[in-house]
Amino acid sequence: MAIVTPLETPPGVRRRLRLASPATLEPIGEIELPTIEEVHAAIQAARKAQPAWAALPVKERARYMTKALKVLLERQDEFIQVLQRETGKPRTEALEMDIFAACDALQFYAKRSARFLRPERKRIHGVVGLSKQLRIVYRPLGVVGVISPWNGPFILSINPTIQALMAGNSVVLKPSSATPYSGKLVGDLFEAAGLPQGVLTVLLGDADTGAALMEAGVDKISFTGSVATGRKIAMACAERLIPCTLELGGKDPMVVLADADLDRAAGGAVAGAFMNAGQYCCGTERIYVVEAVADEFTRRVVERASKLRQAAGGEFDVGAMIWPRQLEIAEEHVADAVAKGAKVLVGGRRNPTLKGLYYEPTVLTNVTHDMLVMREETFGPILPIMRVRDEEEAIRLANDTVYGLAANVWTRNKRRGLGVAQRINSGSVCVNDMAMTYGVPEAPFGGWKNSGIGQVNGEIGLRGYCHIQPILIDRFGGKQTANKYPYSFQKDAGMQKFIRFLWGTRLGRWLSMRRLPL
Ligand code: NAD
Repeated sequence: MAIVTPLETPPGVRRRLRLASPATLEPIGEIELPTIEEVHAAIQAARKAQPAWAALPVKERARYMTKALKVLLERQDEFIQVLQRETGKPRTEALEMDIFAACDALQFYAKRSARFLRPERKRIHGVVGLSKQLRIVYRPLGVVGVISPWNGPFILSINPTIQALMAGNSVVLKPSSATPYSGKLVGDLFEAAGLPQGVLTVLLGDADTGAALMEAGVDKISFTGSVATGRKIAMACAERLIPCTLELGGKDPMVVLADADLDRAAGGAVAGAFMNAGQYCCGTERIYVVEAVADEFTRRVVERASKLRQAAGGEFDVGAMIWPRQLEIAEEHVADAVAKGAKVLVGGRRNPTLKGLYYEPTVLTNVTHDMLVMREETFGPILPIMRVRDEEEAIRLANDTVYGLAANVWTRNKRRGLGVAQRINSGSVCVNDMAMTYGVPEAPFGGWKNSGIGQVNGEIGLRGYCHIQPILIDRFGGKQTANKYPYSFQKDAGMQKFIRFLWGTRLGRWLSMRRLPL
């Protein structure tokens, strides 16, 4: 992810950012930031384009997704190159995290949205059902602002964009200033797919651009990023009374039980902790392993972690970190842990052989819950392993956090895994896999506690970009309400008798729960 340096510009001239590769520290480009007026103009254009877009049948909208998929398949090498240049991540990670997941999302929502957004007829229970019919329709909200982070710069920009578009909204996307070129790919892709003008605008910018987007009057914000920024977004949305989904940070635990397949668990731990150089929102940030298998599990983790390769090009396993501050956080967390008694088994320092921002894959033991590395999101390639007495202690410590994004549990007994999963207070849990629920659209994805508000993906996520509008139709053309007045004590007495019958007798209670035909 690119190192960002703001450039000096005279007042009245657009601000500029210089970007450098975190892998080589070489410059990779400059971007010019939009003015506040330009942000407003983008929202206005999106608002103008939205009604015609919403008027298209869902299947027509889906055709643009299918075209975009075709373009992505054809141009994937070019996209991977942009992603790698800007992020310093291994080719495999650009392919798996960004390209594979984007192809799946384009296809999934192209095929499923019509079903998820189809107007529904609902049966109504009890006496109200005698006179009313209920329809539910899914209306677009208008203009959706998508604000995305740098760590999955293409997928975390395109996935909410696809869903907001399929629901009939227009979108203004503001990718992270650290990964503007990867965010811009989303605009390029849909432009090549022929998306009508104004339906999607990509604004390259920084935090101020994001704040201006909020100010400019969107109808929903779909935000993915840090807890600190998430709070600001929540406050700005509260002031404007607009909905938001907030996909925020985590401190995801992994629990290894005594009956786990230790080799697979060790592989899962290493993949979960070091993928994307640990800059993965659902990355494994702390491990609790029961005493009986702790030594053997740790040995296998160390063996695997020490074989990981870092490089600025070619074939390698662990890439660069975004910018100097992220690397400093990793250093601070390791230094704090060591000062409080932790042992470094692998890594524990910047990679001295590389020029770029590389921190060595690091495994720590002898860790405790008074260390930063066990309490605050590190977002780096650091894996602390803590021995626990038993399953109960593992669950208690896994829940001892202000976060709750994802978690994973390892055991040979699926039923036991399911039981433990349901006692961990996190947005999602995986059994015998690193956290990967975000990639499964059937799974509603969202954080618990400080890790976020709302859920994205699949049916729930898609409908989150809609106003879900119930329409109640009177079967008798409004006769009953038209004859409501005058009130009288006699009518009240009749009503009270009816209430006593409905909920005070067995037959009444049975009738009050009957659902009438549509
Ligand atoms: P960040 O909060 O610094 O920035 C996220 C986006 O918000 C960027 O586009 C940024 O320019 C913009 N922004 C910053 N300040 C703003 C403001 N005041 N108003 C409007 N927009 C503003 O986060 P980051 O450093 O880019 O991303 C890393 C964080 O994201 C980590 O905490 C990670 O866990 C989290 N994350 C969460 C998920 C998830 O799905 N829950 C996924 C990926 C990343």
